[in-house]
Amino acid sequence: MQKIIFGNWKMNLSDEGAVALAKSITTVRIDASFVRIGVLPSFTALAAVGETLRGSAVALGAQDCFWETAGAYTGEISPTQLKKLGCTHVLIGHSERRQYLGETDDMINRKVRAALAADLTPVLCIGETDDARRRGLWSNVIADQTTKGLSGIELIGTQSIIVAYEPIWAVGTGRACAPEDAREAHALVMNALIEQFGPSVAKNNFRIIYGGSVDAKNIGSYLGEEGIDGALVGGASQHSPSFVELIVAAQK
Ligand code: PEP
Repeated sequence: MQKIIFGNWKMNLSDEGAVALAKSITTVRIDASFVRIGVLPSFTALAAVGETLRGSAVALGAQDCFWETAGAYTGEISPTQLKKLGCTHVLIGHSERRQYLGETDDMINRKVRAALAADLTPVLCIGETDDARRRGLWSNVIADQTTKGLSGIELIGTQSIIVAYEPIWAVGTGRACAPEDAREAHALVMNALIEQFGPSVAKNNFRIIYGGSVDAKNIGSYLGEEGIDGALVGGASQHSPSFVELIVAAQK
């Protein structure tokens, strides 16, 4: 099955830098039957990066969205606005937003619903803290975040959701999760999905990707694990040589 690699550019690139990086990615050979590559620039760069990616195999996504379509919500961006800009995916509930902006599972759930309604594929981020892992609570945390983030959702037809398992202690730290531990976590997420949606929808309409200090050197070890459908990449996706190398390595 097609693997998924998404680059989360966070708030780290200028709009010009984002366009230049997008341009360099379009020069890489991408076998779309094998891998789906996508980038998640800042809102300000979405239009220009979308223009740069036009006609390429690289998908465009945003790093967040609001849960309403329109209205008096100063500063927010709706999923329909993102769709109009050419986005096909949207990241929801990244740990940095949970931590710094107080996003709750309920807010995240509303965003996932709104994204689906706007015909965007949500990339729902979940993952435990270092403390939860040390105290043996990690499996409860990830099952709970999965279930709450997807509460009440019904998938229609080919609608799909990507769940990104991102242990917080591995994000941006260089301390990548051991591939076998990631595989165990993904199996737990899949169990939670089966319980909530039944085996057929869980297996056909959901993909589970890993995020946390992934780079060109370790990407192969994740993609080789059963149940790991790809990677969400932060730091290593924000520079041309490292992201290009990673995309090449992912297709080996
Ligand atoms: C992320 O921000 O989603 C992420 C996985 O970052 P990094 O790859 O830098 O750990």
